[in-house]
Amino acid sequence: MPVESHVDVLIVGAGISGIGAAYHLQDKCPDKTYLIVERRQNLGGTWDLFRYPGIRSDSDMYTFGYSFRPWTEPQVVASGDAILKYLRETTEAYGIDERIRYGLNVTRAAWSSRDAQWTVHARDEGTGEDVRVTCNFLFMCAGYYDYDEGYTPDFEGTERFGGRILHPQSWTDDVVYEDQRVVVIGSGATAVTLIPELAKKAAHVTMLQRSPTYVVAKPSQDRVANWLRERLPGKYAYAITRWKNVLYMMFMYWWCRTRPERAKELLVEQAQNALGDDYDVETHFTPSYNPWDQRVCLDPDREFFRTIRSGRASVVTDEIDCFTENGIRTASGGELEADLIITATGLELKFLGGLEVEVDGEPVDLSETFAYKGMMCSGIPNMALSLGYANASWTLKSDLTAGYVCRLLNHMDSHGYAYCCPRANDPSLEAESMLVLDAGYVQRGRHKFPKEASVAPWRLHQNYALDVIALRYASMQDDVMSFERVDASAEDADELAAAGDALPVGR
Ligand SMILES: Cc1cc2nc3c(=O)[nH]c(=O)nc-3n(C[C@H](O)[C@H](O)[C@H](O)COP(=O)(O)OP(=O)(O)OC[C@H]3O[C@@H](n4cnc5c(N)ncnc54)[C@H](O)[C@@H]3O)c2cc1C
Repeated sequence: MPVESHVDVLIVGAGISGIGAAYHLQDKCPDKTYLIVERRQNLGGTWDLFRYPGIRSDSDMYTFGYSFRPWTEPQVVASGDAILKYLRETTEAYGIDERIRYGLNVTRAAWSSRDAQWTVHARDEGTGEDVRVTCNFLFMCAGYYDYDEGYTPDFEGTERFGGRILHPQSWTDDVVYEDQRVVVIGSGATAVTLIPELAKKAAHVTMLQRSPTYVVAKPSQDRVANWLRERLPGKYAYAITRWKNVLYMMFMYWWCRTRPERAKELLVEQAQNALGDDYDVETHFTPSYNPWDQRVCLDPDREFFRTIRSGRASVVTDEIDCFTENGIRTASGGELEADLIITATGLELKFLGGLEVEVDGEPVDLSETFAYKGMMCSGIPNMALSLGYANASWTLKSDLTAGYVCRLLNHMDSHGYAYCCPRANDPSLEAESMLVLDAGYVQRGRHKFPKEASVAPWRLHQNYALDVIALRYASMQDDVMSFERVDASAEDADELAAAGDALPVGR
């Protein structure tokens, strides 16, 4: 077997969340053994997978960076390469790189209450061999979408098209776009990121969108952060800037949600100012929904708006009728000629990297569980998962989650508990979607995820300050989390398993 056969904690995924989880474990639970298993041959997850030109963060790096490792570059918005470098340096600085095993695709995990441990199966992507690891606690940091392919709708006539059709998730270095007529289908963050970069070399870029998105322009450097960094030790400058940005983001989100009409007006006005008085902002940059019903796209230093204004790229708001030999025919009868068509049409959501879960011999349908504090599933013992915020930087939540898991492990150790399990016993809990955004990829995939309910601890705050209180300081004991000891007799364990079975499926 190419990996250790037993560890205290098994982390699945070596992206931002998995690496952060490893740091917190080393720091707060130094006696625990752990291992990270990663399907790919590199760390970084999202930032290793996506290779399209201009790939960058949408969040500011003071909140997207880890709480424990200051972001020291002057750029607030970082390129994919800069994020990868930051992650590599983090793993090297704390010796985490030695604990990562690559090329292992975790497919199945079976929990035994009697042994208080998981048996985790992974497929070696190189040899096809089945690798088994046992662990006491399983920490899933596998992201939220399918790495195998992105989402592309079924467009009529794609086989007729004489050029190349490509999803940004499949971008490779050999894609030629110099002097090409490029059509980018989509209006989300990927399209807004990709278009200014492509337009530097392409003959022309057309953004073809079914409906508009909010785009907000911001400077790519944070003057206050730079000022603080020149005057204070890096650690303090980072901590202050991080909180400044967290509070700013929380305020902006709250303001957009409570004054949607005014927020909309300002965003549209900003687009009009950036694009010029005669630009048809009403058609192309005035969404029908309110800000933060879907993510607001970031345009650092107005590069996207400037590219449109320069004429190197243009926006068409229309439906696709079909693909033709030369490009795309739109519903209104127009024809967009293209050599390269990029389908920036979104992600395919996937929960826990497609993991199949069994508890005491029974398969569990994860979509029927309730998410406990947004990080455990009801009825599943000793397993946590890392999911970030929809309205703020992912890492803020993944940092808190990892810290909470360490508190949980230490709490169990100090009381002699072998495992813990949140139980959704209240029959009046009404299932709601835990994914708050209304974006197409969320609507398509939300049924695969656990549910939330309207009351704590089944309610997700999507609010960092409230989560800090709930996850860093609140008691570990509540009326839904059950803690069990290892010295329970086999009969007790069987009874517990039976109690779990008596609950509605997956709860
Ligand atoms: C293009 C793009 C840009 C984004 N920009 C931002 C941004 O600016 N700000 C923000 O907050 N969020 C952003 N996000 C969301 C982003 O995914 C997260 O911020 C963050 O990178 C997620 O980190 P993660 O470690 O949780 O998951 P991931 O980065 O998805 O990493 C998961 C890892 O788990 C591995 N894995 C998955 N399944 C298995 C399995 N079964 N077995 C073994 N390994 C497995 C994967 O190979 C991967 O390495 C962006 C997402 C995309 C797609």
